[in-house]
Amino acid sequence: MEYYKHDVIVIGAGPVGSYTAFLLARKGINVGLFEKNETIGENVNCSGIISKECYDRFSLPERSVIRPVKKIKAYSPSGNYIQYNSEYPLAYIVDRSSFDKEINKRANNSGVTTYLGSKVKYIGNTQKSFCIRVVSKNSEEEFNSRVGIIATGFEFNNLFLNRTKFKDFLFGVQTEVDFENNDNVEVFLGKNIAPGSFSWVIPSVKGYAKIGMLVKSRPVDCLKNFLNSHLISPRVKSWDGVMKCSPVPIKPIQKTYYERTLIVGEAAGQVKATTGGGIYFGLICAEIAAQTVINSFKNNNFTEEYLKVYENKWKKILSTELKAGLILRNIFSKLSDRQIDKLLDLAKRDGIMPIIKNSGFDWHKEIIYYMINHLMPKNIFKS
Ligand SMILES: Cc1cc2nc3c(=O)[nH]c(=O)nc-3n(C[C@H](O)[C@H](O)[C@H](O)COP(=O)(O)OP(=O)(O)OC[C@H]3O[C@@H](n4cnc5c(N)ncnc54)[C@H](O)[C@@H]3O)c2cc1C
Repeated sequence: MEYYKHDVIVIGAGPVGSYTAFLLARKGINVGLFEKNETIGENVNCSGIISKECYDRFSLPERSVIRPVKKIKAYSPSGNYIQYNSEYPLAYIVDRSSFDKEINKRANNSGVTTYLGSKVKYIGNTQKSFCIRVVSKNSEEEFNSRVGIIATGFEFNNLFLNRTKFKDFLFGVQTEVDFENNDNVEVFLGKNIAPGSFSWVIPSVKGYAKIGMLVKSRPVDCLKNFLNSHLISPRVKSWDGVMKCSPVPIKPIQKTYYERTLIVGEAAGQVKATTGGGIYFGLICAEIAAQTVINSFKNNNFTEEYLKVYENKWKKILSTELKAGLILRNIFSKLSDRQIDKLLDLAKRDGIMPIIKNSGFDWHKEIIYYMINHLMPKNIFKS
């Protein structure tokens, strides 16, 4: 009989990997969690907006919350804006580094062994085991387990026998500045601001704001232009010039299950194409992945055929939502500034706000189809 140091190997101690590991360990499964960085939450690039719905559903760590989000303002290219105010928090702005650490702490407290500074450089799977080769400071070691979960974020590209290559992705570029007093989350639209996408200002710790954007190309130049624009420049008190930039997939990968293997979170492309947000959908999929693995241990069945249920389940919940997001992104990227202006103006006058209020922070399908069916036909495409 094979000896396994761990029943399950999870690769990547981001929120999705640590949460999956936590759910498995809580059920008595022996989990080894491998993280390439020396500390959890090191050098993360994220705005840290997580909906209240997500926070409540997964009992996420309150001590990582910086502030609630109650006001959102979206600016059209001409400077018009639409504002949404809520009495109650719609979402929270969190310190992502602390957030990742807290979730990992929960995993470790439930019995997970986290290996820090342990970069997985090879992943393999056979009918007999899941196997990884890990490089740490002084050594290179091989680990086997019954099942493996890949939660490496975008870095999954090419790691697993070249099976996956993200073709559809954008760049998320962001910086933190000493900013004017502001408690709104602000979104800016326009070809000259964030071509085909949007940029944001998000208040963070007192007096600071995260300013960033999602774009297809030239992320650093686009962000510099935005910071120097009349919209932002007069409001910035000081800036250290440091920017972080990372790719964000906007479409799920072809297949998220293999023999003894599941792929979860950003690594699987379980990300909203509209905003690039991946934490909520990643955690939903983590829950489904953990339940699938728990069942596979009960039935002693780790075959690809058995694990397929994971993909069926997450697609049932998220597929139409993800597709709607992509449709909107494709339409939006083709609109001129004039058309975006018209769209925002129509949205303002044409009753889209009640739909936004009812849809919730994370579920955009209804708003997207409303816009396509109701607002778009109103001469939006005539420039
Ligand atoms: C600028 C920007 C802003 C964003 N803002 C938001 C937001 O406001 N809200 C939101 O929900 N989402 C946001 N996102 C997306 C969000 O950051 C990701 O969806 C989320 O981090 C995905 O979590 P994950 O656990 O799947 O992957 P990750 O958080 O990427 O975690 C993967 C982990 O795996 C480790 N790893 C990678 N390769 C290896 C390896 N070979 N061996 C061992 N370990 C490895 C990494 O070091 C990392 O710790 C933003 C993204 C960007 C770029």
